[in-house]
Amino acid sequence: MYDLVIIGGGPAGLSAAVYAARANLKVAVVEKGLPGGQMQNTTEVENYTGFKMIMGPELSQVMHEHALHLGVEYFNADVEKVELEGNIKQVHTTRNVMEAKAVLIATGAEPKKLGAKGEEEFRGRGVSYCATCDGAFFNEKRAGMDKGVIVVGGGDSAVEEGTFLTRFNKVTLVHRRDKLRAQPILQKRAFDNPKMNFIWDSTVEEILGEGAVKAVRVKNLETGEVTEVPANGVFIYVGMKPNTDFLQGSKILNEGGYIPTDENMKTAVPGVFAAGDVREKGLRQIITAAADGAIAAMSAYHYIESLEDAKEDVTV
Ligand SMILES: Cc1cc2nc3c(=O)[nH]c(=O)nc-3n(C[C@H](O)[C@H](O)[C@H](O)COP(=O)(O)OP(=O)(O)OC[C@H]3O[C@@H](n4cnc5c(N)ncnc54)[C@H](O)[C@@H]3O)c2cc1C
Repeated sequence: MYDLVIIGGGPAGLSAAVYAARANLKVAVVEKGLPGGQMQNTTEVENYTGFKMIMGPELSQVMHEHALHLGVEYFNADVEKVELEGNIKQVHTTRNVMEAKAVLIATGAEPKKLGAKGEEEFRGRGVSYCATCDGAFFNEKRAGMDKGVIVVGGGDSAVEEGTFLTRFNKVTLVHRRDKLRAQPILQKRAFDNPKMNFIWDSTVEEILGEGAVKAVRVKNLETGEVTEVPANGVFIYVGMKPNTDFLQGSKILNEGGYIPTDENMKTAVPGVFAAGDVREKGLRQIITAAADGAIAAMSAYHYIESLEDAKEDVTV
């Protein structure tokens, strides 16, 4: 029996683990992928206070090590179902069923699909959602890699990762509006970069190729004109979707699948907390995920204390 089982080992889950372990709780983190979550897919992080620049995978590693150093138990498994009601929660994973007094959901979010024809067919063969992981494959010095890459999207991730990709090849960013949504500092860096080009008011309708990507079909949403743009790769950054499929039908989700909480990270069910990108909130960043995790852990601590107090009252 754990005091707290944390589902998800991104910055929210790992920060919560650090705070919960330091509060002397028996804590487990269950993570289906690599520790660090989306940070593993981020090249340079320049806005996590204390680090002028740190690579996402490195920040993942130091957070993971910090939690392990405090005695947190870490399991690599996929959580398939959670029984949330009652004083003992059950977390069903691909390995076992874990019991806990409290549960923290910190499962974050994952990239949305573009929905373009060819996206599934060429996934891993030119279509990617992670510049850190796949950018180097598209080095223009490699044979046949002279067409450049397409980035789809206009937010922080598209612009930041697009700029990173210019280290390997020329980049054409396709955005459905006539201006970017990314932070001004990221926009300026992209506009000043001679290897970045922009196609405005447009969307990628189809990804074309034979075995590997060769081109994309781009539609101008203002004029309806369709053009074929040669490309070796397509990086898609068109938003995120919360990882809450395993909670389908549960009363803690809103219509979009996110989890509303109060400022103490409490959900609609006592003893169930949520932190990070999976939460209904405004700013989804590493620093806000970490802060949510710390708050959630302390809320879980107080909740568990209240269970113990109630038990003592009954005994007396
Ligand atoms: C390309 C990119 C660049 C970014 N750049 C920055 C940046 O520069 N600065 C910044 O502050 N933020 C950046 N962000 C955003 C930041 O990474 C996120 O806000 C942050 O990682 C959210 O943390 P989290 O712990 O809530 O969720 P996540 O990081 O999404 O972690 C959730 C974890 O839960 C796991 N999980 C999900 N479902 C299950 C399940 N059923 N069972 C077990 N485990 C599960 C996932 O595998 C994942 O590891 C970027 C994001 C992306 C995609």
